[in-house]
Amino acid sequence: MSSGSTNSEESTQPKPLFGAFNQPEPPDYSTLLQQIKDGEVKSLELIPARREVRVSYPDGREVQVPVFANDQQILRGAEASGTPLTVRDTRGDDAMAGLVGNLGLILLLVVGLSFLLRRSAQVANRAFGFARSQPRVKSQDDLSIRFEDVAGINDAKQELEEVVTFLKEPESFIRLGARIPKGVLLIGPPGTGKTLLARAIAGEAGVPFFSISASEFVEMFVGVGASRVRDLFKQAKEKAPCIVFIDEIDAVGRQRGAGIGGGNDEREQTLNQLLTEMDGFAENSGVILLAATNRVDVLDAALTRPGRFDRRIQVGLPDRQGRCDILSVHARTRPLDESVSLNEWAQRTPGFSGADLANLLNEAAILTARQGQSSISDRQLEGALERITMGLAAAPLQDCAQKRLIAYHEIGHALVAALLPEADRVDKVTLLPRSGGVGGFTRLWPDEEVLDSGLVTKSRLRARLVVALGGRAAEMVVFGSQEVTQGASGDLQMVSQLAREMVTRFGFSDLGPVALEGGDQDVFLGRDWLNRSPSYAQTTGRDIDLQILALARESLDRAVELLSQNRAVMDRLVDALLDEETLQGSRFLKLAGLT
Ligand code: ADP
Repeated sequence: MSSGSTNSEESTQPKPLFGAFNQPEPPDYSTLLQQIKDGEVKSLELIPARREVRVSYPDGREVQVPVFANDQQILRGAEASGTPLTVRDTRGDDAMAGLVGNLGLILLLVVGLSFLLRRSAQVANRAFGFARSQPRVKSQDDLSIRFEDVAGINDAKQELEEVVTFLKEPESFIRLGARIPKGVLLIGPPGTGKTLLARAIAGEAGVPFFSISASEFVEMFVGVGASRVRDLFKQAKEKAPCIVFIDEIDAVGRQRGAGIGGGNDEREQTLNQLLTEMDGFAENSGVILLAATNRVDVLDAALTRPGRFDRRIQVGLPDRQGRCDILSVHARTRPLDESVSLNEWAQRTPGFSGADLANLLNEAAILTARQGQSSISDRQLEGALERITMGLAAAPLQDCAQKRLIAYHEIGHALVAALLPEADRVDKVTLLPRSGGVGGFTRLWPDEEVLDSGLVTKSRLRARLVVALGGRAAEMVVFGSQEVTQGASGDLQMVSQLAREMVTRFGFSDLGPVALEGGDQDVFLGRDWLNRSPSYAQTTGRDIDLQILALARESLDRAVELLSQNRAVMDRLVDALLDEETLQGSRFLKLAGLT
């Protein structure tokens, strides 16, 4: 019974999880010696190399006890008590273990080394794989763009129609011995639809379209660009007839010899390869190259000579009718409210490119969706225009004194513009701040005619200076010349730049009709940096500064005079602006009594 109960007790006791729990505690050294002496030990096994002794007890327990390297005590004890003692030589075992360990280490080294070698081979492969470019080849089905999707640049479209005809029916041209240009250069500011036009040609003619940006040619390694050019042309020739479109051609096509460090750089090699390839493919081979640039003046002459990019097509900013047409194209896929007049919006967006107009409608569509409405109305278009021209709206100003100062500053600009007949039209004055630190702003629209013709008179430019200083002048008139703020720093910068151009480039000063400085001098940094000496005498330099100062001073005086004479009107307008926060052009003129 009792043994049964003991058994059941044993079975209910938790079993140790690990064998280590079962191991008996080894006795300490002196206890072991005592145990040997007392004959309590069954046998001993001494392992000198490991400095331990294995002790076996009559009850079957086995323990290991650390001992000294050359332990005499245990030997003597065992001898005295007659305990059997064996000595084990483990040198062979240890040598084997060492060998295995070393082999493992060598194996690890070999694996690591081969991994490293493989990695570096991959890197090298990738580096030299640069050479193989992947121009984005659009398949025919992709080319859904047609000429009707491109609006407002009819001249360019007409000129390119013959390219489409050639691609569709080359025989009629070849029969007559006509030579179709190999290269067409599309020149115009960004966003005017140059890429769109190239894609429309491919779409109309139903031929493949290869497009690459010239900046993608130029890489870290010399020679990569050239090999990419070769690759592109090889692909194009295989797929002829086709269109190859190179965007930003000026990235590689700049005049040679103009870089720092001589002419043997990557860009020049790429350009040379491009020239060679253009010469290499036969006339009427069916590959037509279109290239886009905004800076035709910087292109190397070799690129634009007959047989290469010999046809130039200007793609300018759209005029009012053009803008209206572009808006209509982009409104096709967007539900517009019936009240929206695209003509009116075309009138309100002088200077906008096709991309800006597409963006305007897109922003308006986003706003409409956010406001949960079903069609785009004038309100959303207004919001979108503001976002594009001035950035996102920030929280309205709270501080009253600061708000008043900004109101005077903005009304100063706007009132001067309204009072000067040569100045640009006031479109809007607002106090709603914009993210990016603009406290308020006055939007002026330049005259349509001026914008389209690109010609600005001296009196108009002088009026621009006076308007730009209108803000500072208002602060001076109202708060005194000691209380003016640094808020006008942007205006002053613009004044300095414009006045300098008037004096040194347009001949609008007492210095006479001479151009003392060229425009956009930073284009050939390398070349101009090396021979950068002004083309005028030191005394002329001083005269230029004096003329610029005189222009700025006169303009400020004129603005102060105009605003002092119209102080009452200015105060009235500021009160209205503080009250309403935004004044549209027509309301502003009405309040000013200038309609
Ligand atoms: P670019 O190549 O001249 O910099 P893009 O052709 O890339 O300009 O134009 C960008 C986008 O702007 C086009 O995808 C299109 O939506 C719009 N866009 C530009 N010009 C026009 C235009 N003339 N007609 C219609 N859409 C235009």
